[in-house]
Amino acid sequence: MHPKQRAIGILGGTFDPIHFGHLRTALELYQALDLAEIRLVPCSQPVHRKRPIASPEQRLAMLKCAIANEPALTVDDSEIRRQGPSYTIDTLENLRLAYSNIPFCLIIGIDALLGFPSWHRWQAILELAHLIVVHRPCYQLPSTGVVADLLKERLTHTVAHLHEKPAGSIVLHPVTALDISATDIRKMIAADKNPRYLLPDTVYDYIQQHGVYSISRL
Ligand code: ATP
Ligand code: MG
Repeated sequence: MHPKQRAIGILGGTFDPIHFGHLRTALELYQALDLAEIRLVPCSQPVHRKRPIASPEQRLAMLKCAIANEPALTVDDSEIRRQGPSYTIDTLENLRLAYSNIPFCLIIGIDALLGFPSWHRWQAILELAHLIVVHRPCYQLPSTGVVADLLKERLTHTVAHLHEKPAGSIVLHPVTALDISATDIRKMIAADKNPRYLLPDTVYDYIQQHGVYSISRL
């Protein structure tokens, strides 16, 4: 029997810009869940929030700078190539065409899990991917409602389950809490404050070279 192929992690976001909160989360989950890789998927046009400040090309370029020396992390530019609103289900359906039987692990924050039933075709998402919910101590899990029912049906504590079937389980996983946000980084740069050590130097170099978050653009 051939060994099953390891699951692929998927972390979507605006990445405006990418920072160590994203990168550390991705690397820790890659290791803890024994994933084949984590694909960072920058959205083209987020569905529930206003347009990013940096252009899709700039966000893509910053991601590439950030992961240049880390083979565990890859960049998936499919949402940017597709343009228009970025629905997770479309991304998963396209990926499924390319990887027919490999398990997918969609990484979301616990805050996103609470709103998950409002996502476009959320039930279909669970047919195509497992959910890896990144634990944040300040959020409580609900004890009643759709999310509580989902957890009752699908929560697993056994990482190996993620590699045994292509989709449908939910795992809660803690990561090192780094209270870094792209919003704060953008504000710092616009206020001429130094954001070093919150994001990779290579990303900050790119931001400076291209004047990405200078005050005139915010
Ligand atoms: P913004 O401040 O513009 O909302 P952000 O820092 O939250 O940006 P996003 O691109 O919105 O970054 O986040 C992409 C994904 O990474 C989301 O799932 C989000 O929950 C998660 N994430 C963001 N910041 C962190 C962090 N510091 N630690 C762990 N996960 C994070
Ligand atoms: Mg955010």
